[in-house]
Amino acid sequence: MLYHKGSVVLTEDPFVHVLMQSEREQRCDECLEMCDKLLRCTACKMLYYCGTKCQKKNWKLHKEECPLLKNCAPKVPTDSVRLLFKLIQKFKINNPKDVGINGNTETRLKDLMSHASEIKEDVKRNEEFAKICYTLSKFIDGKKFELPPLADVLDLFGKMCINSFTICDGEMQAIGVGIYMNGSRLNHSCLPNAVAVFSGKQLTVRSTTDIDADEEILISYIEQLGPSAERQRYLKSSYYFDCTCPRCRDKDLDGKMLACKCPGLNCEVPITTQGALSCPACNADLSATYWDEQEQAALKAKQLIAKSERLRKQRDWDSLINFDNDPLVRRLLHETNVYRVTLQMSAMDGYINLEQWDKAVESARFLAQPVMSYYPPNSPMIGVHLMKLGKLELYIKQNKSALQHLQQAETILKVSHGVNHTLYKDLTSLLDQCMEELRVTLDQS
Ligand SMILES: [Zn+2]
Ligand SMILES: [Zn+2]
Ligand SMILES: [Zn+2]
Ligand SMILES: [Zn+2]
Repeated sequence: MLYHKGSVVLTEDPFVHVLMQSEREQRCDECLEMCDKLLRCTACKMLYYCGTKCQKKNWKLHKEECPLLKNCAPKVPTDSVRLLFKLIQKFKINNPKDVGINGNTETRLKDLMSHASEIKEDVKRNEEFAKICYTLSKFIDGKKFELPPLADVLDLFGKMCINSFTICDGEMQAIGVGIYMNGSRLNHSCLPNAVAVFSGKQLTVRSTTDIDADEEILISYIEQLGPSAERQRYLKSSYYFDCTCPRCRDKDLDGKMLACKCPGLNCEVPITTQGALSCPACNADLSATYWDEQEQAALKAKQLIAKSERLRKQRDWDSLINFDNDPLVRRLLHETNVYRVTLQMSAMDGYINLEQWDKAVESARFLAQPVMSYYPPNSPMIGVHLMKLGKLELYIKQNKSALQHLQQAETILKVSHGVNHTLYKDLTSLLDQCMEELRVTLDQS
């Protein structure tokens, strides 16, 4: 066996990275760690550092960006423009030391895939590229920074699109974007055997199952709460390949993910066969209009999801808690349907942030089952959800149940994050706290 479950497959710092705009002033722009007291770059007043060590490290590339940022302040170019700018800087410097080494494999900037020919044919990507080039030229604004020939910029843009990782915090929320030389070599599966987690900007790929020497190490490039057709469409349009992984061939799972609500009175059984003529449990008639309405409901739910993502960024929790209340969606989609699960997750985060604990616990409890069945085994998403649930139960003093969920979370996070990750350490203190409370209750009774 090559890797036992929970082993470190690789660990590396990014080749280039940027902190997401929404995280600015909360995290260090270099190491991406949360920090109460941040130093500000005195020249551009735009970037922040946890200390002089990070500032110095960042300066190597920031020194060219700094006067440009100062020039366009208070506007800041988008994260993609900033990342592309850094890639261009690296391309121009062309340092022979810029190489990712993993075992016997070396990766350089020139080795990263760019899918240049597909990108040239891709209307949407072309529009995006034109937009980025426009912002980039505005950003440089005739200053002394010289851009390489357009063909090279396009190639770097392609490399950025194909190889970028979303950098997440321990709870799997996006905080930045980066390019990792070794990480970018890993292929995708919707049923992966490894996972990418981050400590600050550092990437660690860990095995989530036992992996034999002849098995390929696979990670997931995408959010997995979606039916195969949607995942495949996204992978094709973003990475130009057709996913044929075991999950994409699992029609039963798709049926569950798209579960519909039966129109029969008090029937709770999900309908998992698209286009079925009647409910397998109560025999309720499912007409053609029912399936037309299904389509509308799914469309509506997807619109709501897109909207909820925007509101989440704006931290508009009051609106988010109402997102699973759309009458059409509720009438037609079963509560275990992935779209509703996604909306309920937003609502749960709303309740948590509004400190409505009872409601939050109720949603977290309900979501545990779908989360466990829709994410692959040992997915960090499952561990993070169970930890949230346990933590909420601890707040409302349901300690026995809290202990059970925290222990379940521990089994998974040990594999997905590893025992040295700060999230795992937070979990251990929650477990200690929970056991202490249980001991006190036992003493009192
Ligand atoms: Zn730092
Ligand atoms: Zn600066
Ligand atoms: Zn797949
Ligand atoms: Zn029924």
